[in-house]
Amino acid sequence: MPAAPGGPRLLLRRLREAMAEPVSPQARLDRIVVLIAANVVAEVCSVYVLRDDNSLELFATEGLNREAVHLTRMRADEGLVGLIAQTAEPLSLSDAQQHPAFSYRPETGEEAFHAFLGVPLLRAGNTLGVLTVQNKTYRVYSEEEIEALQTTAMVLSEMIASGELQALAPDAGTAARRAVSVRGTVLAEGIGLGHVVLHEPRIVVRTLIAENSEREMTRLESAIENVRSAIDDLVERGDKIGSVESREVLETVRMFAHDKGWLRRMREAVASGLTAEAAVERVQSDNRARMLRQSDPYLRDRLHDLDDLANRLLRELIGQDSFGLPGSLPENAILVARSMGPAALLDYEPARLRGLVLEEGGPTSHVAIVARALGIPAVSEVENATALCDAGNAIIVDAVAGEVHVRPGPEIEAAYAEMVRLRARRQEQYRALRDVPAVTRDGVRIGLHLNAGLLVDLNHLDEAGAEGVGLFRTELQFMVAQRMPSAAEQQALYRAVFSAAGTRPVTIRTLDIGGDKILPYMPKLEEENPALGWRAIRIGLDRPALLRVQLRALLKASGGQPLKIMFPMVATVDEFVRARAIVEREKAHLRRHGYPLPSDCQLGVMVEVPSLLFQIDEIAAEADFLSVGSNDLMQFLFAVDRENRRVAHRFDPLSVAALRAFRLIAERASAVGCPVTVCGEIGGRPLEAMALIGMGYRGLSMSPAAIGPVKAMVLTVDAGAVAALIDAEMARMHDGDSLRPALTAFAKAHGVPI
Ligand code: PEP
Ligand code: MG
Repeated sequence: MPAAPGGPRLLLRRLREAMAEPVSPQARLDRIVVLIAANVVAEVCSVYVLRDDNSLELFATEGLNREAVHLTRMRADEGLVGLIAQTAEPLSLSDAQQHPAFSYRPETGEEAFHAFLGVPLLRAGNTLGVLTVQNKTYRVYSEEEIEALQTTAMVLSEMIASGELQALAPDAGTAARRAVSVRGTVLAEGIGLGHVVLHEPRIVVRTLIAENSEREMTRLESAIENVRSAIDDLVERGDKIGSVESREVLETVRMFAHDKGWLRRMREAVASGLTAEAAVERVQSDNRARMLRQSDPYLRDRLHDLDDLANRLLRELIGQDSFGLPGSLPENAILVARSMGPAALLDYEPARLRGLVLEEGGPTSHVAIVARALGIPAVSEVENATALCDAGNAIIVDAVAGEVHVRPGPEIEAAYAEMVRLRARRQEQYRALRDVPAVTRDGVRIGLHLNAGLLVDLNHLDEAGAEGVGLFRTELQFMVAQRMPSAAEQQALYRAVFSAAGTRPVTIRTLDIGGDKILPYMPKLEEENPALGWRAIRIGLDRPALLRVQLRALLKASGGQPLKIMFPMVATVDEFVRARAIVEREKAHLRRHGYPLPSDCQLGVMVEVPSLLFQIDEIAAEADFLSVGSNDLMQFLFAVDRENRRVAHRFDPLSVAALRAFRLIAERASAVGCPVTVCGEIGGRPLEAMALIGMGYRGLSMSPAAIGPVKAMVLTVDAGAVAALIDAEMARMHDGDSLRPALTAFAKAHGVPI
């Protein structure tokens, strides 16, 4: 291929004219392949589009038999074109026919050609098709030619993504628009149908082809400069990008901002005729394609960092205004984001949110807690979610099975619509139980309480028919705030909570921060094992000012009414005794200043560190009540990180070891007349809750959605019969065995809904 007569810039100018012509999509595509072939002096130029059924179809060609257009179809893993689609990498060969992947299609008349160059049509890292050029001679394509073809490919990718070619693919759509189903992890249960709203939407680059390349180069350079100095500022201030990234990440991002290879590729893309933003996107898309195919988690993270940087650059070039602001949500919005903090989620109007899809964030992340509090079905760890969806696409969040269906077909949509109706009917049935007291068949009264952490949670008290709040996680107010809540703000929240609860009791837990619960405005401690580190009551005792402010706010907010406070992560009796002394000091202080004290101030302990199992008599004798935090208790008992998906399901809370721990606590507490409840997740699962009742627990605290199903279980179960079953099974089982099968069989046999 001799030097191109007009170079890539001229080609892009011609393409821009072709894009503007009022002709049919096929005519436009035919014109484009002619232009490309002429410009790069190739005898052949062809466009293959990835179809819905995963085949690659010849959509246009200059140089091959025109009759083959829309007839030649290959599997996505077939031939050289398939290879390019799969690897998302350019392929340049001086003799294509010698390549092992070469697949001969007689209808195309390809036998006359030897040199072959193909590039993927990429958008946000996804392959939409393949663009190829061929020559009769055996020749080697230069780096510049490969680069120029990739730039041209971008224009075609946008044309495919716009849906313009949909009309040419009537029987099965193009892959760009096809239905996709992806798996993820359930953060908040439920099913939501709606339309995609991108949180911090991917910036859409509309002007691809430069009118003045020199000006575009200047724009690129100054954007790079601005982004670099913004990052330098952040590093210097020790600040954070968003709220989670640490200094280490910033340093890496800064390093990338000076990466010569990355900068060179963007500059080359501008030199070849793209606008500055199109150049950034073009390089970003290649990077994303690599990221999606990279299995090494470290390298993936680095590619993620580079992706972040490209986003910053795009924002700098196009301006912040192109972001959709929260608040302007359509009805039935499903938010899709790479990651999101709890405060950002709260910025959206909850009544219009039908679901949340995230690429990152574990089930115990703060955004998950907020999503559950708001009752928004949420799925996380959905790979590449933001690139798979376009704003406005139909989408279904199945936060029961942990699936997300983007652009679902009519059957899937109908099946889910039916499922949603069924769930609504079941909710209706639970609602009918709302005012029915939770009493077992043999007359045992069970207190069903709510886990809460935000004021909005209190709405569920009436809706779900809960008796009170069994666990109010005060750290949520701290986690969603931009800065440390003042004493007055804390007091105002507690007062609002008490007044929303009315006469129903509320058990407030003091700040449980540290570990995974990080406050964005507090310096992050580098700890080897944060779950075992400086957290919860440990911070409270070491830095009593924080705890004292909170206790004072609570005592004042109680306004003379009864108050229940409990302390998290207590590991020794002494810790509780010291915490109680701080409460007493605060009470004395308020008394001196004439404030009304709570008519009854009960102090409890969360049993969530296994050491308490071996001081259970002593702690039950000291505390006014106990509450089993089974989430942490199980984590520490089985040495299984509750946030680590690889291990989180390795143990069964219905195993003999776990049940012995639960039974020990219940028995010893009741022996000294100390009330004990369970406030971890297991209390909200009907089968597990049934076992807890069998072991003597009479109070359970759970998420709002769990109250209905647990109450339905309580109403049909015989507590004495479950106790007898557990006694018998525990007597003859070995450590490590689970009572799950026996309990499930019992429930089935007695018609207990679980
Ligand atoms: C628990 O550990 O079981 C618990 C209820 O507390 P959290 O989930 O907030 O740690
Ligand atoms: Mg806990």
